[in-house]
Amino acid sequence: MPHLITREQALASLARAEPACFICELAAGGAPYPLADENGVAVFLSQYPRFWGQIIIAPTAHCEFFTELNPETWLTMSAAALKAARLLEHRFAPARCYIASLGSPRLLPMSCPHLHLNVLPVPAGEWKPCDVFTWKHGLYDGTPEEWQGCWRQMQTDWEASDESFGIPARR
Ligand SMILES: [Zn+2]
Repeated sequence: MPHLITREQALASLARAEPACFICELAAGGAPYPLADENGVAVFLSQYPRFWGQIIIAPTAHCEFFTELNPETWLTMSAAALKAARLLEHRFAPARCYIASLGSPRLLPMSCPHLHLNVLPVPAGEWKPCDVFTWKHGLYDGTPEEWQGCWRQMQTDWEASDESFGIPARR
């Protein structure tokens, strides 16, 4: 089963690589678990998921502010976020699916200024946003087989869902 690791373990593994902007690198094809790359928007599984299955959506071109973002790119990101949330609801049956544009004003080990959306399947429990959007309670990790399995499953789901987001409703 995917297992919880501590914030310190996650930061230690991140310390191995220090790209200028890791979202640029991931969105340019460096993501190990890509799901889609359409209209200047990349979609991939988070390698450091707060909850297993977390998806990241980002413009492929470096962009830090909404005032810089092409509205068409934002529409593509929004459509991808809706699709991602529906896929996660279908696959993981979370209690809630959170979508958030977070990031940090400067490059940090766990975040960066490159605009991106996080789509998180939040399991049942008394979660508050401040408990979800933090690494202090740990992150999930899996075996290579579990990562491959999750990725293949999400890839299959992504490709099977059409433009009208025809994923069967969870309920
Ligand atoms: Zn960037």
